[in-house]
Amino acid sequence: MQPAHYTRSRLSEQIMNLPNDDKTCGWYAALPAPKPVRTLSGQQTADYVIIGAGFAGLAAARRLATLEPEARVILVDAQRVAEGASGRNSGFVIDLPHKFALEHPDPAHKQRLLGLNRAAIAQLESLIAEHDIECQWSHAGKYQGAVGERGLAYLAHFEKLLSGLGEPFRMVERDELQRVLGTTHYSRAIFTPGCYLMQPAALVRGLGDSLPENVELLENSPITRLERDGKGGFVLLGNAGTIRTPRLLLGTSIFTQEFGYLKNRLLPVMTFASWTRPLNDDECKRYTGTFNWGLTPADHAGTTVRMTQDKRLIIRNTYKHVPKYGRSIDDKARSDIRSDHRKALVKRFPDLAEVPFTHTWGGVYAISRNFTNFFGQLEEGVFASACDNGVGAAWGTISGTLLADMAVGADSSLLHDIQAVTGMPSLNPPEPFLGFGVRSRIKLAAWNSRSEL
Ligand SMILES: Cc1cc2nc3c(=O)[nH]c(=O)nc-3n(C[C@H](O)[C@H](O)[C@H](O)COP(=O)(O)OP(=O)(O)OC[C@H]3O[C@@H](n4cnc5c(N)ncnc54)[C@H](O)[C@@H]3O)c2cc1C
Repeated sequence: MQPAHYTRSRLSEQIMNLPNDDKTCGWYAALPAPKPVRTLSGQQTADYVIIGAGFAGLAAARRLATLEPEARVILVDAQRVAEGASGRNSGFVIDLPHKFALEHPDPAHKQRLLGLNRAAIAQLESLIAEHDIECQWSHAGKYQGAVGERGLAYLAHFEKLLSGLGEPFRMVERDELQRVLGTTHYSRAIFTPGCYLMQPAALVRGLGDSLPENVELLENSPITRLERDGKGGFVLLGNAGTIRTPRLLLGTSIFTQEFGYLKNRLLPVMTFASWTRPLNDDECKRYTGTFNWGLTPADHAGTTVRMTQDKRLIIRNTYKHVPKYGRSIDDKARSDIRSDHRKALVKRFPDLAEVPFTHTWGGVYAISRNFTNFFGQLEEGVFASACDNGVGAAWGTISGTLLADMAVGADSSLLHDIQAVTGMPSLNPPEPFLGFGVRSRIKLAAWNSRSEL
Protein backbone atom coordinates (compact mmCIF):
# COMPACT_ATOMS: atom_id res chain seq x y z
CA MET A 1 0.00 0.00 0.00
CA GLN A 2 1.32 3.44 -0.87
CA PRO A 3 0.91 6.54 1.30
CA ALA A 4 -1.38 9.16 -0.30
CA HIS A 5 1.14 11.95 -0.62
CA TYR A 6 3.47 10.34 -3.12
CA THR A 7 4.86 12.50 -5.85
CA ARG A 8 4.90 10.99 -9.27
CA SER A 9 8.64 11.50 -9.63
CA ARG A 10 10.21 8.09 -9.87
CA LEU A 11 13.88 7.51 -9.33
CA SER A 12 13.92 3.97 -10.50
CA GLU A 13 12.01 2.30 -13.28
CA GLN A 14 9.04 0.12 -12.42
CA ILE A 15 10.82 -3.06 -13.37
CA MET A 16 14.15 -3.37 -11.68
CA ASN A 17 16.63 -6.13 -12.41
CA LEU A 18 17.19 -7.81 -9.09
CA PRO A 19 20.13 -9.85 -7.85
CA ASN A 20 19.91 -13.43 -9.01
CA ASP A 21 22.84 -15.26 -7.52
CA ASP A 22 23.01 -19.02 -7.99
CA LYS A 23 22.41 -21.22 -4.93
CA THR A 24 25.52 -23.29 -5.53
CA CYS A 25 28.15 -21.30 -3.67
CA GLY A 26 30.42 -23.66 -1.73
CA TRP A 27 31.29 -21.12 0.96
CA TYR A 28 27.61 -20.61 1.77
CA ALA A 29 26.80 -24.33 1.58
CA ALA A 30 29.51 -25.02 4.17
CA LEU A 31 27.77 -22.82 6.77
CA PRO A 32 25.15 -24.04 9.22
CA ALA A 33 21.56 -22.98 8.51
CA PRO A 34 21.10 -19.24 9.02
CA LYS A 35 18.95 -17.71 11.75
CA PRO A 36 15.25 -17.35 10.89
CA VAL A 37 14.77 -14.60 8.35
CA ARG A 38 13.10 -11.26 9.01
CA THR A 39 11.57 -9.66 5.93
CA LEU A 40 10.16 -6.24 5.10
CA SER A 41 6.44 -5.94 5.73
CA GLY A 42 4.01 -3.10 6.41
CA GLN A 43 4.84 0.60 6.37
CA GLN A 44 8.13 1.33 8.09
CA THR A 45 10.01 4.54 8.75
CA ALA A 46 13.69 4.83 9.57
CA ASP A 47 16.24 7.57 10.11
CA TYR A 48 18.59 5.80 7.75
CA VAL A 49 18.10 2.98 5.28
CA ILE A 50 20.97 1.07 3.77
CA ILE A 51 20.23 -1.12 0.77
CA GLY A 52 22.63 -4.02 0.25
CA ALA A 53 24.13 -6.13 3.03
CA GLY A 54 27.53 -6.90 1.51
CA PHE A 55 30.80 -5.59 2.95
CA ALA A 56 29.84 -1.99 2.12
CA GLY A 57 26.28 -2.03 3.46
CA LEU A 58 27.17 -3.99 6.61
CA ALA A 59 29.97 -1.58 7.45
CA ALA A 60 27.77 1.45 6.78
CA ALA A 61 24.96 0.13 8.98
CA ARG A 62 27.32 -0.70 11.84
CA ARG A 63 28.95 2.70 11.74
CA LEU A 64 25.66 4.64 11.51
CA ALA A 65 24.25 2.74 14.45
CA THR A 66 27.38 3.43 16.47
CA LEU A 67 27.50 7.13 15.61
CA GLU A 68 23.77 7.60 16.22
CA PRO A 69 22.68 5.05 18.83
CA GLU A 70 19.20 6.58 19.09
CA ALA A 71 18.56 6.38 15.35
CA ARG A 72 16.46 3.68 13.72
CA VAL A 73 18.65 2.11 11.06
CA ILE A 74 17.28 -0.41 8.57
CA LEU A 75 19.59 -2.59 6.47
CA VAL A 76 17.73 -4.36 3.72
CA ASP A 77 18.86 -6.98 1.20
CA ALA A 78 17.15 -8.83 -1.62
CA GLN A 79 18.81 -12.07 -0.50
CA ARG A 80 20.10 -13.64 2.70
CA VAL A 81 23.29 -12.08 4.02
CA ALA A 82 26.33 -13.76 2.35
CA GLU A 83 24.40 -14.87 -0.72
CA GLY A 84 25.69 -11.87 -2.71
CA ALA A 85 29.19 -11.21 -4.05
CA SER A 86 30.59 -10.45 -0.59
CA GLY A 87 29.88 -14.01 0.55
CA ARG A 88 31.01 -15.76 -2.63
CA ASN A 89 34.38 -14.24 -3.49
CA SER A 90 37.78 -15.88 -3.23
CA GLY A 91 38.39 -14.67 0.31
CA PHE A 92 41.46 -12.46 -0.21
CA VAL A 93 41.38 -9.29 1.89
CA ILE A 94 43.97 -7.32 0.01
CA ASP A 95 45.91 -4.37 1.35
CA LEU A 96 47.74 -3.49 -1.84
CA PRO A 97 45.88 -1.36 -4.33
CA HIS A 98 44.59 -2.85 -7.53
CA LYS A 99 47.18 -3.24 -10.29
CA PHE A 100 45.80 -0.30 -12.27
CA ALA A 101 45.82 1.89 -9.18
CA LEU A 102 49.44 0.90 -8.54
CA GLU A 103 50.26 2.49 -11.88
CA HIS A 104 48.86 5.84 -10.72
CA PRO A 105 51.50 8.56 -11.21
CA ASP A 106 50.94 10.19 -7.79
CA PRO A 107 52.69 8.30 -4.93
CA ALA A 108 50.40 9.98 -2.37
CA HIS A 109 47.37 8.50 -4.14
CA LYS A 110 48.78 4.99 -3.71
CA GLN A 111 49.68 5.58 -0.07
CA ARG A 112 46.12 6.74 0.60
CA LEU A 113 44.73 3.57 -0.97
CA LEU A 114 47.07 1.44 1.12
CA GLY A 115 46.07 3.29 4.27
CA LEU A 116 42.37 2.84 3.51
CA ASN A 117 42.71 -0.88 2.81
CA ARG A 118 44.77 -1.38 5.97
CA ALA A 119 42.21 0.50 8.03
CA ALA A 120 39.60 -1.93 6.66
CA ILE A 121 41.73 -4.95 7.56
CA ALA A 122 42.27 -3.62 11.10
CA GLN A 123 38.52 -3.03 11.44
CA LEU A 124 37.64 -6.53 10.24
CA GLU A 125 40.26 -8.09 12.47
CA SER A 126 38.97 -6.33 15.54
CA LEU A 127 35.32 -7.23 14.77
CA ILE A 128 36.26 -10.87 14.19
CA ALA A 129 38.00 -10.95 17.58
CA GLU A 130 35.28 -9.01 19.40
CA HIS A 131 32.43 -11.18 18.10
CA ASP A 132 34.30 -14.49 17.83
CA ILE A 133 33.53 -14.83 14.15
CA GLU A 134 34.82 -18.18 12.94
CA CYS A 135 35.80 -17.49 9.36
CA GLN A 136 39.27 -19.00 8.84
CA TRP A 137 40.71 -15.48 9.17
CA SER A 138 44.47 -15.66 8.82
CA HIS A 139 47.39 -13.40 8.05
CA ALA A 140 48.65 -15.67 5.30
CA GLY A 141 49.92 -13.12 2.75
CA LYS A 142 49.44 -13.72 -0.95
CA TYR A 143 51.38 -15.22 -3.84
CA GLN A 144 51.12 -13.60 -7.23
CA GLY A 145 52.12 -16.38 -9.60
CA ALA A 146 53.49 -16.55 -13.14
CA VAL A 147 53.47 -19.63 -15.33
CA GLY A 148 54.96 -18.62 -18.70
CA GLU A 149 56.66 -15.67 -20.39
CA ARG A 150 53.55 -13.51 -20.30
CA GLY A 151 53.05 -14.01 -16.57
CA LEU A 152 56.73 -13.40 -15.90
CA ALA A 153 56.57 -10.09 -17.77
CA TYR A 154 53.60 -9.03 -15.60
CA LEU A 155 55.51 -10.13 -12.52
CA ALA A 156 58.55 -8.04 -13.47
CA HIS A 157 56.26 -5.04 -13.88
CA PHE A 158 54.63 -5.73 -10.51
CA GLU A 159 58.08 -5.96 -8.89
CA LYS A 160 58.93 -2.48 -10.21
CA LEU A 161 55.64 -1.04 -8.95
CA LEU A 162 56.12 -2.55 -5.49
CA SER A 163 59.69 -1.27 -5.25
CA GLY A 164 58.45 2.20 -6.22
CA LEU A 165 55.87 1.97 -3.47
CA GLY A 166 58.45 0.91 -0.89
CA GLU A 167 56.34 -2.08 0.10
CA PRO A 168 57.88 -5.34 1.35
CA PHE A 169 57.74 -8.32 -0.98
CA ARG A 170 59.72 -11.44 -1.72
CA MET A 171 60.48 -13.17 -5.00
CA VAL A 172 59.73 -16.89 -4.67
CA GLU A 173 61.23 -19.40 -7.10
CA ARG A 174 59.83 -22.66 -8.38
CA ASP A 175 61.38 -24.96 -5.74
CA GLU A 176 59.97 -23.05 -2.82
CA LEU A 177 56.63 -22.71 -4.58
CA GLN A 178 56.54 -26.47 -5.00
CA ARG A 179 57.10 -26.94 -1.27
CA VAL A 180 54.42 -24.45 -0.27
CA LEU A 181 51.83 -24.88 -3.01
CA GLY A 182 52.41 -28.52 -3.85
CA THR A 183 52.75 -27.82 -7.59
CA THR A 184 55.56 -27.28 -10.10
CA HIS A 185 53.20 -25.37 -12.36
CA TYR A 186 54.47 -21.89 -11.47
CA SER A 187 57.87 -20.61 -12.55
CA ARG A 188 58.01 -17.79 -10.06
CA ALA A 189 55.84 -15.71 -7.75
CA ILE A 190 55.93 -12.55 -5.71
CA PHE A 191 54.86 -12.97 -2.10
CA THR A 192 53.36 -9.92 -0.40
CA PRO A 193 52.78 -10.28 3.33
CA GLY A 194 49.89 -7.84 3.95
CA CYS A 195 46.98 -9.92 2.58
CA TYR A 196 44.58 -11.86 4.83
CA LEU A 197 42.61 -14.94 3.86
CA MET A 198 39.13 -15.82 5.09
CA GLN A 199 35.95 -17.79 4.45
CA PRO A 200 33.84 -14.99 2.95
CA ALA A 201 30.36 -16.37 3.65
CA ALA A 202 31.31 -17.07 7.28
CA LEU A 203 32.79 -13.61 7.72
CA VAL A 204 29.84 -11.80 6.15
CA ARG A 205 27.32 -13.92 8.05
CA GLY A 206 29.22 -13.17 11.26
CA LEU A 207 29.18 -9.46 10.54
CA GLY A 208 25.43 -9.60 9.90
CA ASP A 209 24.78 -11.54 13.09
CA SER A 210 26.74 -9.09 15.23
CA LEU A 211 25.21 -5.79 14.12
CA PRO A 212 24.43 -3.25 16.85
CA GLU A 213 20.96 -3.48 18.38
CA ASN A 214 19.57 -0.43 16.62
CA VAL A 215 20.15 -1.96 13.18
CA GLU A 216 17.18 -3.91 11.86
CA LEU A 217 18.33 -6.38 9.27
CA LEU A 218 15.66 -7.31 6.72
CA GLU A 219 16.62 -10.07 4.29
CA ASN A 220 14.95 -11.70 1.28
CA SER A 221 13.36 -8.28 0.80
CA PRO A 222 14.13 -6.87 -2.63
CA ILE A 223 13.50 -3.15 -3.03
CA THR A 224 11.74 -2.98 -6.34
CA ARG A 225 11.24 0.74 -6.69
CA LEU A 226 12.49 3.97 -5.22
CA GLU A 227 10.35 7.11 -5.12
CA ARG A 228 10.50 10.57 -3.58
CA ASP A 229 7.99 11.25 -0.82
CA GLY A 230 7.41 14.89 -1.79
CA LYS A 231 8.96 16.10 1.49
CA GLY A 232 12.62 15.71 0.56
CA GLY A 233 12.73 12.06 1.62
CA PHE A 234 12.34 8.71 -0.07
CA VAL A 235 10.00 5.76 -0.14
CA LEU A 236 11.39 2.33 -0.85
CA LEU A 237 8.90 -0.18 -2.16
CA GLY A 238 9.27 -3.89 -1.46
CA ASN A 239 6.99 -6.82 -2.27
CA ALA A 240 5.17 -6.72 1.07
CA GLY A 241 6.01 -3.34 2.56
CA THR A 242 7.51 0.12 2.24
CA ILE A 243 10.16 2.09 4.09
CA ARG A 244 10.17 5.87 4.32
CA THR A 245 13.44 7.57 5.11
CA PRO A 246 15.13 10.95 4.75
CA ARG A 247 18.54 9.37 4.16
CA LEU A 248 19.44 6.49 1.95
CA LEU A 249 22.77 4.72 1.61
CA LEU A 250 23.35 2.40 -1.31
CA GLY A 251 25.72 -0.52 -0.81
CA THR A 252 24.35 -2.13 -3.92
CA SER A 253 27.52 -2.37 -6.04
CA ILE A 254 26.56 -2.97 -9.69
CA PHE A 255 22.83 -2.83 -8.84
CA THR A 256 23.14 0.89 -8.04
CA GLN A 257 22.37 1.50 -11.70
CA GLU A 258 18.98 -0.19 -11.26
CA PHE A 259 18.00 2.62 -8.88
CA GLY A 260 18.65 5.15 -11.64
CA TYR A 261 22.12 6.22 -10.45
CA LEU A 262 25.49 5.99 -12.23
CA LYS A 263 23.58 4.87 -15.32
CA ASN A 264 25.83 3.77 -18.20
CA ARG A 265 28.91 4.11 -16.02
CA LEU A 266 29.24 0.66 -14.50
CA LEU A 267 30.06 -2.62 -16.23
CA PRO A 268 28.50 -5.79 -14.80
CA VAL A 269 31.09 -8.54 -14.82
CA MET A 270 30.81 -12.07 -13.52
CA THR A 271 33.60 -14.39 -12.50
CA PHE A 272 33.39 -18.01 -11.35
CA ALA A 273 34.87 -20.46 -8.88
CA SER A 274 34.77 -24.19 -8.14
CA TRP A 275 35.98 -26.03 -5.08
CA THR A 276 36.68 -29.63 -4.18
CA ARG A 277 35.55 -31.47 -1.12
CA PRO A 278 38.24 -31.54 1.62
CA LEU A 279 41.12 -33.79 0.56
CA ASN A 280 41.01 -37.20 2.25
CA ASP A 281 44.00 -38.79 4.01
CA ASP A 282 45.19 -40.58 0.93
CA GLU A 283 45.00 -37.40 -1.18
CA CYS A 284 46.77 -35.44 1.54
CA LYS A 285 49.67 -37.91 1.31
CA ARG A 286 49.88 -37.29 -2.45
CA TYR A 287 49.67 -33.52 -2.01
CA THR A 288 53.14 -32.18 -1.21
CA GLY A 289 52.26 -28.60 -0.25
CA THR A 290 51.01 -26.81 2.85
CA PHE A 291 47.48 -25.87 3.83
CA ASN A 292 46.06 -22.33 3.89
CA TRP A 293 47.56 -20.33 1.04
CA GLY A 294 46.23 -18.12 -1.74
CA LEU A 295 47.62 -17.29 -5.15
CA THR A 296 46.35 -14.72 -7.62
CA PRO A 297 47.58 -14.65 -11.21
CA ALA A 298 50.32 -12.20 -12.24
CA ASP A 299 48.33 -11.76 -15.44
CA HIS A 300 44.89 -10.72 -14.17
CA ALA A 301 43.10 -12.82 -16.81
CA GLY A 302 44.71 -15.97 -15.37
CA THR A 303 43.60 -18.30 -12.57
CA THR A 304 43.29 -17.68 -8.83
CA VAL A 305 43.97 -20.74 -6.65
CA ARG A 306 43.50 -21.34 -2.95
CA MET A 307 44.10 -24.20 -0.58
CA THR A 308 41.80 -23.62 2.36
CA GLN A 309 42.44 -24.42 6.00
CA ASP A 310 39.95 -27.26 5.68
CA LYS A 311 41.92 -28.76 2.77
CA ARG A 312 39.80 -27.79 -0.19
CA LEU A 313 41.26 -26.59 -3.48
CA ILE A 314 39.56 -23.62 -5.10
CA ILE A 315 39.96 -22.57 -8.70
CA ARG A 316 38.65 -19.21 -9.94
CA ASN A 317 38.86 -17.91 -13.47
CA THR A 318 36.73 -16.76 -16.44
CA TYR A 319 35.07 -13.39 -16.85
CA LYS A 320 31.75 -12.71 -18.56
CA HIS A 321 29.97 -9.50 -19.36
CA VAL A 322 26.51 -9.99 -17.80
CA PRO A 323 23.98 -7.26 -18.69
CA LYS A 324 21.23 -9.34 -17.01
CA TYR A 325 23.47 -10.30 -14.07
CA GLY A 326 23.08 -13.96 -13.04
CA ARG A 327 20.38 -14.46 -15.69
CA SER A 328 22.94 -13.91 -18.43
CA ILE A 329 24.55 -17.29 -17.70
CA ASP A 330 22.86 -20.50 -18.82
CA ASP A 331 23.49 -24.12 -17.80
CA LYS A 332 25.72 -24.78 -20.80
CA ALA A 333 27.96 -21.82 -19.91
CA ARG A 334 28.18 -23.03 -16.29
CA SER A 335 29.10 -26.53 -17.35
CA ASP A 336 31.80 -25.23 -19.77
CA ILE A 337 33.24 -23.08 -16.99
CA ARG A 338 33.34 -26.04 -14.60
CA SER A 339 35.25 -28.06 -17.25
CA ASP A 340 37.72 -25.20 -17.61
CA HIS A 341 38.15 -25.18 -13.84
CA ARG A 342 38.85 -28.90 -13.92
CA LYS A 343 41.52 -28.39 -16.62
CA ALA A 344 43.15 -25.70 -14.49
CA LEU A 345 43.16 -28.02 -11.46
CA VAL A 346 44.58 -30.98 -13.38
CA LYS A 347 47.38 -28.83 -14.86
CA ARG A 348 48.43 -27.76 -11.39
CA PHE A 349 47.73 -30.92 -9.40
CA PRO A 350 47.86 -33.93 -11.77
CA ASP A 351 48.14 -36.26 -8.75
CA LEU A 352 44.78 -34.96 -7.50
CA ALA A 353 43.10 -35.06 -10.90
CA GLU A 354 40.22 -37.23 -9.71
CA VAL A 355 39.26 -35.14 -6.64
CA PRO A 356 35.73 -34.01 -7.50
CA PHE A 357 34.42 -30.46 -7.42
CA THR A 358 31.40 -30.29 -5.16
CA HIS A 359 30.36 -26.72 -6.00
CA THR A 360 30.72 -24.26 -8.87
CA TRP A 361 29.38 -20.73 -8.55
CA GLY A 362 29.58 -17.27 -10.03
CA GLY A 363 29.23 -13.75 -8.70
CA VAL A 364 28.61 -10.32 -10.15
CA TYR A 365 30.52 -7.15 -9.44
CA ALA A 366 31.08 -3.76 -11.01
CA ILE A 367 34.03 -2.41 -12.89
CA SER A 368 34.38 0.91 -14.63
CA ARG A 369 36.23 1.70 -17.83
CA ASN A 370 38.50 4.21 -16.08
CA PHE A 371 38.98 1.92 -13.03
CA THR A 372 37.57 4.64 -10.82
CA ASN A 373 35.49 3.85 -7.74
CA PHE A 374 32.46 5.94 -6.91
CA PHE A 375 32.12 7.12 -3.30
CA GLY A 376 29.94 9.93 -2.00
CA GLN A 377 26.68 11.76 -2.37
CA LEU A 378 24.59 11.11 -5.47
CA GLU A 379 22.00 13.73 -4.65
CA GLU A 380 20.50 15.31 -1.51
CA GLY A 381 19.99 12.48 0.99
CA VAL A 382 21.43 9.67 -1.17
CA PHE A 383 24.94 8.29 -0.67
CA ALA A 384 26.66 5.39 -2.39
CA SER A 385 29.79 3.34 -2.54
CA ALA A 386 29.70 1.54 -5.86
CA CYS A 387 32.20 -0.01 -8.19
CA ASP A 388 35.23 -1.43 -6.43
CA ASN A 389 36.64 -2.99 -9.60
CA GLY A 390 36.56 -6.46 -8.11
CA VAL A 391 38.59 -6.08 -4.91
CA GLY A 392 35.78 -5.15 -2.59
CA ALA A 393 36.37 -7.03 0.66
CA ALA A 394 38.64 -4.35 2.10
CA TRP A 395 37.33 -1.55 -0.06
CA GLY A 396 33.67 -2.27 0.67
CA THR A 397 34.41 -2.33 4.40
CA ILE A 398 36.21 0.99 4.53
CA SER A 399 34.04 2.77 1.97
CA GLY A 400 30.85 1.70 3.76
CA THR A 401 32.23 2.91 7.08
CA LEU A 402 33.26 6.27 5.67
CA LEU A 403 30.00 6.66 3.77
CA ALA A 404 28.22 6.55 7.12
CA ASP A 405 30.60 9.22 8.43
CA MET A 406 29.77 11.36 5.44
CA ALA A 407 26.02 10.86 5.85
CA VAL A 408 26.11 12.11 9.46
CA GLY A 409 28.58 14.91 8.71
CA ALA A 410 31.52 13.44 10.66
CA ASP A 411 35.00 14.35 9.53
CA SER A 412 38.24 12.35 9.51
CA SER A 413 41.51 12.11 7.64
CA LEU A 414 40.39 8.77 6.16
CA LEU A 415 37.28 10.48 4.80
CA HIS A 416 39.49 13.05 3.08
CA ASP A 417 41.66 10.25 1.75
CA ILE A 418 38.79 8.32 0.25
CA GLN A 419 37.40 11.44 -1.36
CA ALA A 420 40.81 12.15 -2.86
CA VAL A 421 41.15 8.71 -4.47
CA THR A 422 37.63 8.22 -5.81
CA GLY A 423 35.79 9.89 -8.66
CA MET A 424 33.27 9.38 -11.39
CA PRO A 425 33.36 6.14 -13.39
CA SER A 426 33.55 7.11 -17.05
CA LEU A 427 30.59 6.80 -19.40
CA ASN A 428 30.19 3.61 -21.39
CA PRO A 429 29.58 3.67 -25.13
CA PRO A 430 25.99 2.86 -26.11
CA GLU A 431 24.83 -0.68 -26.93
CA PRO A 432 25.49 -2.64 -29.09
CA PHE A 433 29.03 -1.21 -29.14
CA LEU A 434 29.47 -1.66 -25.38
CA GLY A 435 28.57 -5.36 -25.32
CA PHE A 436 30.60 -6.06 -28.42
CA GLY A 437 33.61 -4.15 -27.08
CA VAL A 438 33.58 -5.77 -23.63
CA ARG A 439 33.02 -9.29 -24.96
CA SER A 440 35.86 -8.85 -27.47
CA ARG A 441 38.24 -7.56 -24.77
CA ILE A 442 37.42 -10.42 -22.44
CA LYS A 443 37.92 -12.98 -25.26
CA LEU A 444 41.19 -11.40 -26.34
CA ALA A 445 42.49 -11.31 -22.76
CA ALA A 446 41.53 -14.99 -22.25
CA TRP A 447 43.30 -15.95 -25.49
CA ASN A 448 46.45 -13.94 -24.70
CA SER A 449 46.54 -15.33 -21.18
CA ARG A 450 45.84 -18.97 -22.05
CA SER A 451 49.25 -20.05 -20.71
CA GLU A 452 48.35 -18.52 -17.30
CA LEU A 453 44.86 -20.03 -17.08
C1 LIG B 1 34.02 -15.22 -7.61
C2 LIG B 1 34.48 -13.88 -7.06
C3 LIG B 1 35.72 -13.77 -6.45
C4 LIG B 1 36.13 -12.55 -5.90
N1 LIG B 1 37.26 -12.52 -5.15
C5 LIG B 1 37.55 -11.43 -4.41
C6 LIG B 1 38.60 -11.47 -3.46
O1 LIG B 1 39.24 -12.50 -3.24
N2 LIG B 1 38.86 -10.33 -2.74
C7 LIG B 1 38.12 -9.18 -2.92
O2 LIG B 1 38.41 -8.17 -2.27
N3 LIG B 1 37.10 -9.14 -3.79
C8 LIG B 1 36.78 -10.24 -4.53
N4 LIG B 1 35.69 -10.21 -5.35
C9 LIG B 1 34.89 -9.00 -5.45
C10 LIG B 1 34.08 -8.77 -4.16
O3 LIG B 1 33.32 -9.90 -3.85
C11 LIG B 1 33.16 -7.56 -4.36
O4 LIG B 1 33.96 -6.51 -4.83
C12 LIG B 1 32.51 -7.16 -3.04
O5 LIG B 1 31.83 -8.25 -2.48
C13 LIG B 1 31.56 -5.99 -3.24
O6 LIG B 1 30.94 -5.72 -1.98
P1 LIG B 1 29.70 -4.74 -1.88
O7 LIG B 1 29.26 -4.73 -0.49
O8 LIG B 1 30.05 -3.43 -2.51
O9 LIG B 1 28.60 -5.36 -2.85
P2 LIG B 1 27.84 -6.77 -2.84
O10 LIG B 1 28.51 -7.77 -2.01
O11 LIG B 1 27.59 -7.08 -4.28
O12 LIG B 1 26.48 -6.41 -2.10
C14 LIG B 1 25.42 -5.78 -2.76
C15 LIG B 1 24.15 -6.28 -2.12
O13 LIG B 1 23.06 -5.50 -2.62
C16 LIG B 1 21.92 -6.33 -2.67
N5 LIG B 1 20.95 -5.73 -3.57
C17 LIG B 1 21.13 -5.38 -4.86
N6 LIG B 1 19.99 -4.88 -5.38
C18 LIG B 1 19.07 -4.88 -4.38
C19 LIG B 1 17.70 -4.49 -4.29
N7 LIG B 1 17.04 -4.01 -5.36
N8 LIG B 1 17.07 -4.63 -3.10
C20 LIG B 1 17.74 -5.11 -2.02
N9 LIG B 1 19.02 -5.51 -2.06
C21 LIG B 1 19.67 -5.40 -3.22
C22 LIG B 1 22.49 -7.66 -3.16
O14 LIG B 1 21.65 -8.75 -2.85
C23 LIG B 1 23.84 -7.73 -2.47
O15 LIG B 1 23.81 -8.50 -1.29
C24 LIG B 1 35.28 -11.40 -5.99
C25 LIG B 1 34.04 -11.51 -6.62
C26 LIG B 1 33.64 -12.72 -7.14
C27 LIG B 1 32.30 -12.80 -7.78
